[in-house]
Formats: sequence, C-alpha cells, structure tokens
Amino acid sequence: MRNHVRVVVIGGGVVGASVLYHLTKAGWKDILLIERAELTSGSTWHAAGGMHTVNGDPNVARLQQYTINLYRELEEISGVSCGMHVTGGLLLAGTPERVDWLRMAVARGRYLDMDLELISPSEAKKRYPLLEEKHFLGAIHDPIEGHVDPYGVTQAYAKAAQMGGAEIVRQNRVLDTKQRPDGSWDVVTEHGTVHAEHLVNAGGLWAREVGRFVGLELPILAMEHQYFVTEDLPELKGQKELLHIIDFEAEIYMRQERQGLLLGTYERAGVPWSPATTPWDFGQDLLPNDLERIAPSVTVAFEHFPRLETAGIRKIVNGPFTFAPDGNPLVGPVKGLKNYWVACGVMAGFSQGGGVGLSLSNWIAEGDPGADIWAMDVARYGAWANRPYTNAKVRENYSRRFRIRFPNEELEAARPLRTTPIYETLREENAVFGDYCTLEHALWFAPKGAPAVENATFRRSNAHAHVAAECRAVREGCGLIEISNYGKFEVQGPGAAAWLSQLMTCRMPAVGRIALAPMLNERGRLIGDFTLCRLAEDHFFVVGTYAAEVFYLRWFERQLPPSGVSVRSCAMEYLGLSVAGPKSRELLQALVDQNLSTAVFPFLSFARMDVGMIPALVGRVSFTGELGYELWVTPEYLRALYDQLHDAGTAHGLRNFGGRALNALRLEKSFGNWAREFRPIYGPYEAGLGRFVHLDKADFIGKAAAAAEKGGGGVRKLITLVVDADDADAMGDEPIWHGDKVVGWVTSGGYGHSVGKSLALGYVENTVAGETAGFAVELMGERRAAIRSPEALVDPKGLRMRA
Ligand SMILES: Cc1cc2nc3c(=O)[nH]c(=O)nc-3n(C[C@H](O)[C@H](O)[C@H](O)COP(=O)(O)OP(=O)(O)OC[C@H]3O[C@@H](n4cnc5c(N)ncnc54)[C@H](O)[C@@H]3O)c2cc1C
Repeated sequence: MRNHVRVVVIGGGVVGASVLYHLTKAGWKDILLIERAELTSGSTWHAAGGMHTVNGDPNVARLQQYTINLYRELEEISGVSCGMHVTGGLLLAGTPERVDWLRMAVARGRYLDMDLELISPSEAKKRYPLLEEKHFLGAIHDPIEGHVDPYGVTQAYAKAAQMGGAEIVRQNRVLDTKQRPDGSWDVVTEHGTVHAEHLVNAGGLWAREVGRFVGLELPILAMEHQYFVTEDLPELKGQKELLHIIDFEAEIYMRQERQGLLLGTYERAGVPWSPATTPWDFGQDLLPNDLERIAPSVTVAFEHFPRLETAGIRKIVNGPFTFAPDGNPLVGPVKGLKNYWVACGVMAGFSQGGGVGLSLSNWIAEGDPGADIWAMDVARYGAWANRPYTNAKVRENYSRRFRIRFPNEELEAARPLRTTPIYETLREENAVFGDYCTLEHALWFAPKGAPAVENATFRRSNAHAHVAAECRAVREGCGLIEISNYGKFEVQGPGAAAWLSQLMTCRMPAVGRIALAPMLNERGRLIGDFTLCRLAEDHFFVVGTYAAEVFYLRWFERQLPPSGVSVRSCAMEYLGLSVAGPKSRELLQALVDQNLSTAVFPFLSFARMDVGMIPALVGRVSFTGELGYELWVTPEYLRALYDQLHDAGTAHGLRNFGGRALNALRLEKSFGNWAREFRPIYGPYEAGLGRFVHLDKADFIGKAAAAAEKGGGGVRKLITLVVDADDADAMGDEPIWHGDKVVGWVTSGGYGHSVGKSLALGYVENTVAGETAGFAVELMGERRAAIRSPEALVDPKGLRMRA
C-alpha cells in the first residue's frame, strides 16, 4: 500500500469504485481505494441491479442517463462484463392522477433527450403479456431501463481505475481519519497509515461510522429491503427477456431473472436497520426474511400479474441500504472540513453511481461538479437533520417511494418541529402550514371555521380563491407575511466590504442602504442571490435562501481571508415579518418615529428602528412588487411585533398572507427565486440579473466569465410566459415549445391572481427568446399556447415599490 497519495477513497462498493474510476479519468493517478473486506461487501453485492432514467429532479435524471450510458464504455475499457440487460421498462399507472404524473414525466423527458412513450394498457399488455390489463390506465415505455450485474459493474469500475493508475487495497479497514494542520489527512488503517491530500467517504452502509471519526453525523439511515426470485416459468424459456416493470399501485418493481421473475417492494411499513450504528462485523450477510411485511404489496401484485401467484419462490433476499431523508445521494465537500468529500446515501447505485462519481471527481479535480447537482449536494442539510429527524424522514420517504408527491403536498413526518413565537397565533388564524428545513411557515389562510387543509393535486387546489384574496389585499391595501424562514448572515470586520465586493457582482451599498447581490462561481454561474444590508462601515446583514445556508457558508469559508472578516449565520437569531402593499407605509409610520417618506427613507433603505417598543432592523425592499418593508427582530419580540402591526393595521384592512400568495405576486413581477430561476447552470445575463453585475468595479469572482457571457449573449434567456391554461398551471420543469420544437423548460409557474392569468417563468434558447407568439407550455400532456410577455405583468417600471 502506498503511504502518500493525493486521494484516499474509503469504501469499495459501486460508488467508491465509480469515484476512483472517474478520478483516473480526470487524470489523477496517485489515488488509493481502501476496502474493509472485498469489493461490494456492503449493500452492493445483493442489489437487484435495476437501472432507470426517470427521476423527479431533471438534473439527477441527466446523471442517471449518463450512468447507464457509461456501462458500455466501462466494459470496453476494462474488458469486464457489467452483465447488462437493457430490456426497456414500463412504468404502470392505475389511477388518473398517476396517468397525469406519467404525462408530466414524458413531457419532461423531451428536453432531457429521453425517448419516453406514453402507451395504453392494451399496448402495455402486448409488450408485457403477464399483466392484467384491467388494473391499469396507462404506462410509459422507456427503452433504456434494465438491469446489470452489481458485482460485474463494481469490478469493471475497479479494473478500469487500476488500468488508469489507481491502487485498490482490500481486507484493510480504515480505523480513523485525522486532519493535519495543513488540511491534509492521515488515514489510519489496520495495515498502517496513509497520508492523503483528499479523503472521500464512500463508506455506504458504514458512511455514518466513517463520518463519526471526524465528528460528522451524516443524515443517512439504512432500511431493510426485500425482493424475491421465483422458480423458472416455462413460458419464459426461449423468449425475449421481459421488460423491467414498476407498478405504482402495487408499489413493486419486477424484472426477469434467468427464467424466473424478481420482485421487490418498497413497503409502507418499512423497517430501519441498525438505526444507531452499523456493526463492523456485518459482512456479506443477509437479514431474516419477513414476507408478512411485504404481503400487502405482493397481494396486489398477484392480482395485477396473476402468473406470479402460482410461481414458486426460489430465493428471498433481505438486505440493508442507505437513504438520505429525501432519498437523493449526499455528494460533495463537507463544510468545515477541508478536503473531506462524501459520496454516500446512494440508494440507486446502478442508476446514479456513475453520475455521482463523475460529479465528485470533477469537483475534486476542478473545483466544480460540472453539473447542477443541488439535489444531491450534502450541503442541502443543516444541523437540523439529526439522527431522529433522519429516521422519521427516511421511513416516510421509503414508504412513499412509489407514491405520487403532488407539487402542493406537504409531508407529515417530523412535524411540527421548529416553530416561531407566532405559530400558535397563525394557527388560530387558520393558517395552512408548510415545512421548510423543519421550520413551519404559513402557506395560506383558510377561512375561519373551514378545515385548514389543502387538497393535494396537480391542478388548482381549494386554496385558489383564498390565495386570490390574499393577493388582492397586498395589491390594494396591505398584507403581512412572516419571513422568518429566510437565511440571514452577519458579515463583520474591517475587511468585510472588500471581501463581500470580491464575492458579489454588485457595488457595495452605502451605510443605511441595501444592494441586490448575485454571487457567481469562477465559471460565472449563479451560486447565490442576496440582499446586502449595510448597518455600518464594517457590518453587513445579509439575507438569502435558508435552504442554502450550509451551501453558502461552505463557499464563504472557502473564500475567507485569514483575518479581517468574520461571517456567521444568524438565521434563527433574527425572525421577521414583512408588510407589503400601498398602505404599508401608513401602517408602519404609525409605529415608528422616523420619517418613512420616500424622500427620507427611499426604496432600498435599511436602518435600526424602534417599532413601538420593539427594537428592529427595518429594510425597505419588496418581493411582491408593492411598497413594502421587512422587519427583523430577535425572537422574543416577534410576538409583540405581530400584535402591534395587526393592531395598527386594522384601520388599513391588514390581512395575513402566506407563501403561496407571495409566489403568485413575484411571478406577476417576473422576480426569480433561488433554486428555481437562479441555479449554478445559469449565468447572470441569462437570468436577467445583468443590471446587478458591475463589470466596471474591481475584480470579483466570476468577472471574466460574466464579461464573456455578456459579450457572447449566453445560450438561453429567462422569459415570462402568459399561458392559456385551463385548471392546471405550470409548476416547474414542463417543456416550453416554440412551433414544433422544444426550446426550453419552465422554472416556476402559477396563477397571477391580480392579472387573472396563468404565468410561467422559464429558460428558452436565445434564438427564440425575442419572439412573442408561437410558444406553448406542455401541461398535463397538452400543449397550451403561451405568449411571451416582454415585461413584468404588474408595474413593469417598478414605480410602486419605489413610490
Ligand atoms: C436488497 C437490495 C436491492 C437493491 N436493488 C437495487 C437496484 O435494483 N438498483 C439499484 O440501483 N440499487 C439497488 N440497491 C441499492 C444499492 O445496493 C446501493 O445503491 C449501492 O450498493 C450503494 O453502494 P455504496 O458503494 O454507496 O455502498 P456499499 O455497497 O455499502 O459499499 C460501501 C463499502 O465501503 C466499505 N467500507 C465501509 N467502511 C469502511 C472502512 N472503515 N474501511 C474500509 N472500507 C470500508 C464497505 O466494506 C463496503 O464495501 C439495492 C440494495 C439492496 C440491499
């Protein structure tokens, strides 16, 4: 074993092997994989090996396509068979809602270059004779589904990596990892210590334990998972191999295994395995079977595929594999641990392992994953994702694996967890709550006496009329919304302004002023958008997206100079309320001594004020497009602030509004949102943020790339569409057509209640971005005509918020 390398990868499952291979592909040879036992000794060896391309997140779907297409290349390079069976697959729907879901998946596939086909039950029967047609309403056919041999794939990655110069050491457990002052790592193993520049935790079933060597508690949990294989069915002999099946109603997947069938379930009563600690002596072991647990699914499968009932069972497998709370992998550098990388929580190693290896190796070798992997980034979880939380959410996610998640559906596990001091008050006001990183926030307000429940649907819900009333209140009078769920940071020190200026594309605001601040990476892509509020020469209050708190802090830490600047999150130290609407100044003026007139406190002003007896930070900003103020207070004052604003607001018809109304109002203003319109795949000019990019100021990260984007015009543009919708609005990820061509995708959509129109924001190719007519958005399988609005639908000049 080498004793000094650039990278040590801990774990020789399919994921670690893929990371190793991809590092060699990136040109890194001085690398070492250390495996406790034999390759595949964790979850990998007993996997069913199924692979598929469809995923709820388009960016993850792209990486799944990459993974599946990689196997041929791997076989050619390594000479090792991956045991590929690209049979094609059927996703079977038995309810109208699931058919809607299939339609949306097919639509999404259009801009992902996926060749998905929506077919009737009788066509499905022709392609899969074992199914009972009457139970189904439709299906998708995907030609590149199938299965591989888990051992073969892992060996192929390993061999290809070794051919590229990597070393693999087996039968050697990593006992500890210790960081040196320079950020490099001592990896202590049973057979000596290796010094490495970088460390990759690909410990799979033991990734949690490996993380604990450095005090890291990764939000992953293993679940027991069962599949069985039937005896051979004589009718399959000599026939073309059967398609891979997902039957959503039975909650099963099924494929052919030799001449029998392999059937696995994601049962509702899933059981975690070793919830606290994975034993080191767990080897290539299986867990005791519990067919009772999967009986409800199997009973439905017998009805849907009657031949199964008479087929004897040859083998039952019950094995554990790990999940993150949302079911997506955990990939990337870990905040606070220099040169420490994770690639774990991968629940679909044979669909995702290649994409995970590619992104992580890019990130290590080039400082950037090379794709939008926010859905897999380990930084999407904060300290709130502790072990009990992870346990509750993983069980929920496992049980819902084959169930529909409606776009307006809020899941119930681990709730309510974090609440603010006005939670009970908002409940009394009949708020319907959503969960945002475990913090409860009001989505909309049901009428007094009515149940505070929203029906889960792809179409307009029972909230529609009530959200309309909330929007009207904001546009015509004034509304109040809690904004505690925003991310907040404090940046202080003599070097604060210079440092922020280096990070952000905008000019630094003067003391008492606010600047809107996009943040770019070195490639000139958007990695954040903030509101910079300057409290003093050396003190900034920075507001951004709370879900990206760890993502931002990881970036900030990387850029911090040794001294002169400090940055910290103060997200839960300041809670907030916003008042918005033409009457909001009158309302607030009744509570503060300062003159709030535009002459004295214009748009983008920021100051400490006493609001009644409550010390607050007050900023004049607007995400609704109306005159508005954001008020930040320490938590113990939030309740009193809410009461005072309501008391003063009675005279002005103040009404609570929630996140749904805010979304509708910002769509009418064509205001983008982080993680929807603004993501690391877009440049600032493409995203319409060019006016906040000051190429004439001193150097900032991404400046050269931004200048090049400005010069070249980028490849796409964010546009606003008015859609001729029926009872379903766009929600994001639908294809945008122009004529007969798919030219882009929707990033967010909804109903603009003040303008009475269905709206969508989305990116389209530059070639059509200047057109007005000829667009269509595919909603529920139908192309709905759309017209580009060259400007925001409400107050395009922004006069109201500046009034
Ligand atoms: C029953 C079952 C069916 C499945 N079916 C499918 C399927 O059809 N399709 C699909 O895509 N996925 C399937 N999976 C999931 C799939 O197995 C996982 O996604 C995949 O195996 C994860 O691979 P990994 O490399 O992350 O983890 P693992 O396979 O757990 O590998 C981790 C490796 O790290 C090693 N290791 C850990 N700690 C140390 C240490 N301290 N020192 C040295 N080595 C260490 C372990 O020995 C192990 O070999 C299934 C899983 C099960 C259990």
